[in-house]
Amino acid sequence: MNEPDAIIVGGGPAGSVCASKLRMLGRSVMVLERDYFPRFHLGESLLPQSLYVLDDIGVLADVRERFIEKHGARFHDDRDGRKARFVFENAFDETYQHSFQVERAAFDELLLRHAGKLGADVREGWQVRRVLMEGGRSVGVLARDPGGAEHELRAPMVIDATGRGALQAHAARCTEKIPRLDKSAFYAHYEGIPRAAGKEAGDIDIVIFETRPRESDGAWSGGWFWFIPFKDGRTSVGAVVSSEWVKEHRHLGGADAMLQAAIDASPTATAFTQNATRLWPARVEADYSYRVGKMAGDGWVAIGDAAGFIDPLFSTGAHIAMRSGWKVASVIDEALRDGDTREERFAQWVQDTRTGAETFISAVGAFYRGPLLQYLFAENPRTVLRRSITSILAGDVFTSESIWIRDLRLRLAALNEGAAT
Ligand SMILES: Cc1cc2nc3c(=O)[nH]c(=O)nc-3n(C[C@H](O)[C@H](O)[C@H](O)COP(=O)(O)OP(=O)(O)OC[C@H]3O[C@@H](n4cnc5c(N)ncnc54)[C@H](O)[C@@H]3O)c2cc1C
Repeated sequence: MNEPDAIIVGGGPAGSVCASKLRMLGRSVMVLERDYFPRFHLGESLLPQSLYVLDDIGVLADVRERFIEKHGARFHDDRDGRKARFVFENAFDETYQHSFQVERAAFDELLLRHAGKLGADVREGWQVRRVLMEGGRSVGVLARDPGGAEHELRAPMVIDATGRGALQAHAARCTEKIPRLDKSAFYAHYEGIPRAAGKEAGDIDIVIFETRPRESDGAWSGGWFWFIPFKDGRTSVGAVVSSEWVKEHRHLGGADAMLQAAIDASPTATAFTQNATRLWPARVEADYSYRVGKMAGDGWVAIGDAAGFIDPLFSTGAHIAMRSGWKVASVIDEALRDGDTREERFAQWVQDTRTGAETFISAVGAFYRGPLLQYLFAENPRTVLRRSITSILAGDVFTSESIWIRDLRLRLAALNEGAAT
């Protein structure tokens, strides 16, 4: 292949979707992925708003055939027995009323192969060492091929889709931790966890449990579980806990013991897992949330986790990744057409992406601080409030024009302020 229009570093959902969309716009694309797919990855619960993306790039039918539909999210609060179910058909945008629970090894491979079918030059086993900069703009990448040889590959656009490897942000040292989101997750897949019947079988269960007494500032320092059901009967289980909890339980030893300690602290998780078998040793991901100072520069953009990562509470990572990769493809296409790929060309896209991500950050903050729980578990919530929460759970945070999202943003800001004072 001659010099492509764009080199995408990383073949996860962000990179694959961006590659597919650029190919649909007639652009030549090279995708460099250091792993060989299929490979394990976290991020198994998708959001309805991602279906716009999957439909547009032409993979929705394949996804539907292979994965279980997710119609809602159930919340359980172990501290007082409250429960609430949010059903996506109640969201303001009624276009897509469900999503999917996916094993990411299969899902990511489907997306990457699809980009290849559309004509992207997909290279697995290629590790990008760094982005090549000349006169302050990116001109390509330095990459190591599967045999260990290094190559300088040039392109007018470089897209950093390296996930939490965050190639460009780490090179520029511009990652920043998000206050209070210093959480860790202990997780594994299980067999034998009971399921609801019918349409609820694919729901995600979020189980909130107390891990420590309330702090003096009124903050809730509890933990929560995800239970994500797969089509073949297995279930992904993860416990998200604070860094204090990890310190307090470190004496227990490894991840298996930590996951079990969290399960033992939760009556609901104990009931779900009592006749279940863990299929592999538990694993851990630590302290993963961060913002990045710069998402774009002259001749490059960062998409997906490479542009920041938010706590997984609302299953937002893959949605932000796919949507940002999909949206930026058209911006890149126009910039290339005009022969002007300066940073300014990406300013609007950066702003839109940040606004959506900050809405999720605000909601997650209000959850951990406590006040969002009164909305989640409200006995007779007003219809608009319920639809707003359902819409955010569906991932509909990028439509900054709508009145409901502005209203919800104000409410979240007030909740966070109220909790801080
Ligand atoms: C505990 C936890 C639970 C989560 N649960 C959910 C969930 O339920 N739902 C959800 O939507 N999201 C969830 N996420 C988030 C989700 O995993 C990510 O947001 C999503 O995978 C981001 O996609 P991406 O394409 O940006 O990055 P990735 O999926 O990480 O893909 C990046 C790719 O880049 C490749 N790469 C990296 N560096 C290089 C390099 N130098 N050269 C070449 N290739 C490279 C990697 O091999 C990888 O394949 C969770 C995350 C965590 C930590």
